[in-house]
Amino acid sequence: LSKTEKQIIKNSIRDIKDFPKPGIVFKDITTLLNNKEAYGVLMNHLYQRYKEYNLDYIAGIDARGFIFGAALAQMLGLGFVPIRKKGKLPYTTISEKYALEYGIDEIEVHIDAFGEKEGARVLVIDDLIATGGTANAAATLVNQTGAECVECCFILGLTFLDGIKKLQDKTDVYSVIEV
Ligand code: AMP
Repeated sequence: LSKTEKQIIKNSIRDIKDFPKPGIVFKDITTLLNNKEAYGVLMNHLYQRYKEYNLDYIAGIDARGFIFGAALAQMLGLGFVPIRKKGKLPYTTISEKYALEYGIDEIEVHIDAFGEKEGARVLVIDDLIATGGTANAAATLVNQTGAECVECCFILGLTFLDGIKKLQDKTDVYSVIEV
């Protein structure tokens, strides 16, 4: 990714102050998605990076991870697996709780999502890593199904929190842009 390309992606993401509550700067990726140049540069970069990884599945985290994950899976000729917030998946699931700033949340995946054979190579993708709680739970879930979380990929990595460092104990981590 060239400096210019990085800048194109970075500039397309909008900061919304105090959303959803005071003190939070929300990184709005809708302005990346509706910008065909930025979206194209990003998806092409992800395709080039992951085409050599010998992956079996892309798993996207609810909900913005679905957008990048499903597009990337299609480009790479792979299947896509949604990791969802609790209560949305209809078949048998395994679930994992994780801490939020206030309270807990839970995500789940279908028990058979990564196929019959053990050790399917899975890339987990989301738009952003902050504390790393969500991605950590997602990687745990993937590994619990018998598949292998090869890497967690984010469009944006927030480096002032130590989420990336914590997640690195479990899996490889890649952020396209770090802020
Ligand atoms: P965390 O579990 O703390 O790493 O939070 C990551 C999840 O929360 C991702 O699914 C993000 O989409 C969302 N998220 C957390 N912080 C922000 C933020 N500042 N802007 C946009 N999304 C965020």
